Amino acid sequence: MTHHLSAVGGPQIAWDLVDSLKEGWRPVWLTTDAIVIGAGQPGPGVAGALVEDGKRVALIEMDRAGGTCLNHGCKPTKALRASASVAHQARRAAAYVNTSEVTVDFAAAMSRVRSIIDGLRDSLDDWLAGVDGLDLLHGTATVVTDVAANSIRWPSTASI
Ligand SMILES: Cc1cc2nc3c(=O)[nH]c(=O)nc-3n(C[C@H](O)[C@H](O)[C@H](O)COP(=O)(O)OP(=O)(O)OC[C@H]3O[C@@H](n4cnc5c(N)ncnc54)[C@H](O)[C@@H]3O)c2cc1C
Repeated sequence: MTHHLSAVGGPQIAWDLVDSLKEGWRPVWLTTDAIVIGAGQPGPGVAGALVEDGKRVALIEMDRAGGTCLNHGCKPTKALRASASVAHQARRAAAYVNTSEVTVDFAAAMSRVRSIIDGLRDSLDDWLAGVDGLDLLHGTATVVTDVAANSIRWPSTASI
């Protein structure tokens, strides 16, 4: 649900704000100097730099911190590739030493991947939670571009 602020003028904006709050929406512009959408690759770094610059920052993430690279892309694929690489080396080992058959337990390999990713994400979550002046908001940011009082909102019903 998106509730748009009216651009009619001061009193109307105030009444719209009251309606927004009643509907469970809280305009981010009330509490922040800067808003960063997405805690993927650049988001946390940009948010951290803004905080260092003295800004109060809202970092809005609709899924898990770390984005594609940490949760689905670079990190899990490299961690899984490491298992394949070790298996490849072990299979070639018979050319050098006596070995038994090498097998890959895919479930165990995936469990290792998940454990690495969970550890990396926990570190990122801890870092984000520990930055004074940075609020990590869980929800889908909506950029409102069709009113003069442009604003970005997130559902205040989501966990913060
Ligand atoms: C299998 C695979 C392997 C890869 N391997 C590599 C690699 O080895 N090296 C490399 O450089 N790149 C790799 N990539 C590419 C890399 O993952 C992406 O380039 C990178 O993740 C892009 O980062 P990003 O922050 O721009 O976007 P994303 O990682 O997609 O992050 C965007 C974040 O914003 C959030 N978001 C989006 N819209 C909203 C909204 N409206 N409100 C709130 N939150 C929102 C999303 O939930 C997400 O967390 C790989 C990709 C895949 C799929």
